[in-house]
Amino acid sequence: MSEENVSGCTHDCSTCGANCPSKNQPQDLHEPLNAFSSVKHVIGVVSGKGGVGKSMVSSMLAVLLQRQGFRVGIIDADVTGPSIPKAFGLKKPVEGEDGAMLPPATTTGIEIMSANLLLDEEDKPVIWRGPVIAGMVKQFWTDTVWTDMDYLIVDCPPGTGDVPLTVFQTIPLDGVVIVTAPQDLVSMIVSKAAHMADMMHIPVLGLVENMSYVKCPDCGKEIKIFGESHLDEIAAKFGYDVLARIPVDPKLTQLADKGWMEMMENNYMDAAVETIREKTGEVENK
Ligand code: ADP
Repeated sequence: MSEENVSGCTHDCSTCGANCPSKNQPQDLHEPLNAFSSVKHVIGVVSGKGGVGKSMVSSMLAVLLQRQGFRVGIIDADVTGPSIPKAFGLKKPVEGEDGAMLPPATTTGIEIMSANLLLDEEDKPVIWRGPVIAGMVKQFWTDTVWTDMDYLIVDCPPGTGDVPLTVFQTIPLDGVVIVTAPQDLVSMIVSKAAHMADMMHIPVLGLVENMSYVKCPDCGKEIKIFGESHLDEIAAKFGYDVLARIPVDPKLTQLADKGWMEMMENNYMDAAVETIREKTGEVENK
């Protein structure tokens, strides 16, 4: 039965008992961007829990894409553990204009929106309930002026709880990158993230294993401190690509700590960026 066949259809399904096909379609809750923004691709970076390197992977992705000539922004949606501004040494406050927020830019021009840039003291903890956090992330998308962005990277809150779910529902992600660490319960984490992405009809661009190994500074041997990884088997089971394996590298910790991510010199994520470019149809060089 179509809506037109229901006598007196008001097109307000919330008050109607008729079983129209349109009513059974999943509702699109994505929020529109404002009139001043334009964003070509939105990539979510997700993980099962905090501390596995989600912000590290988001930052590396942003730096590499920006170096290839794309205009890149980052939404730091990990509101209770925001680490993106620090990794880029960004301290400029967010400016406002006519109710819209203008994201400050890093030295090389990556634009960033983060709760840390809105707080008076960056080391004060954010003690807010889920709906407040979710509301803030929504505003990072709807009320921020994202000018001609090629890629907007969303550093999502960890896990599959209320806040990450709201992020998935609010921001129309083109795809997600799942970050795991070998000491994680990788299979369970990938399976949960996969399930959530599936439910939301968001493609999984691939898996990144962070803290995969340590390279011996003397002989160059790769030491798997957390034992053999089963990432390939898990990736095959779900039909996902393994985009990158990033070692524990003290240089990375130092770069993020000092705010020097843009000076990063390594090739850990080079192939991952190529795959993401391919999967988002950006094969032409900028
Ligand atoms: P998450 O965003 O998942 O909470 P972070 O990206 O903030 O995790 O990483 C947690 C800590 O580990 C940070 O201090 C970060 O600099 C460090 N770190 C992350 N990945 C690596 C790595 N591959 N090598 C060295 N340090 C890392």
